[in-house]
Amino acid sequence: MNKQRKLIIAGNWKMNKTVAEALDLVNGLKRELANIKEVDIVVCPPFTALPAVSQSILDSNIRLGAQNMSEHNVGAYTGEIAAAMLKEFSVRYVVLGHSERRQYQLESDALIAKKALAAHTASLKPIVCVGETLAEREAGSTEAVVARQVKGSLAGLSKDQMEETIVAYEPVWAIGTGKTATTEQAQEVHAFIRKMLTELFDEAIAKRVRIQYGGSVKPANARELMAQPDVDGALVGGASLEVRSFSDIVKNSI
Ligand code: PEP
Repeated sequence: MNKQRKLIIAGNWKMNKTVAEALDLVNGLKRELANIKEVDIVVCPPFTALPAVSQSILDSNIRLGAQNMSEHNVGAYTGEIAAAMLKEFSVRYVVLGHSERRQYQLESDALIAKKALAAHTASLKPIVCVGETLAEREAGSTEAVVARQVKGSLAGLSKDQMEETIVAYEPVWAIGTGKTATTEQAQEVHAFIRKMLTELFDEAIAKRVRIQYGGSVKPANARELMAQPDVDGALVGGASLEVRSFSDIVKNSI
């Protein structure tokens, strides 16, 4: 449905990689992926590695993302990082509402919506994550959960902002578990999300928004997942921590 836009393949490094390790990884990716034009490639290192990685990818086709940010612009929020601070290092994307943050930091849809608005105000593209747990899937409430998260986490965005927002469908039961959603399961939820975007915004916007799949994406399953009509990219965790596996995912997605 949306293949006139390039796929976006983003690596979420989570709380992994010192600065030296991050540089090793990104230098390897630069070598492996130098000629790739068909895919937007994004790496999301931990905050501490953003300055060094930012410098290292200046002359490359790799773009920079962060894994989180504050909903506030400035002030007495100890330990937080504002959008403007990310912009200093040429960060273009920010992952918001990852299931690990929903689970461990108790992030709510309302908070994620505030962060998404703050990201847009700073011209950062949010990658807003949604997805059901195993218990929710088994209870038959996948669509209800995803609908609540999509509606709540994107609340207050204008049509223009929505167009510059990426949605990542990440079934929680598939993250870091080695279990991948089947292509049918992924396509079904992606199509459902696109239908919701049509209802919440309009059809033209819904067609243009990129909806990524995340959850144990590997070189072996990337091609089949990315071939689904409503899958416009991937958010990759574990397999983005090594040059070979992340490069192969990017190459297999073309
Ligand atoms: C993620 O953390 O967003 C993720 C999808 O992880 P993994 O690829 O390891 O399942």
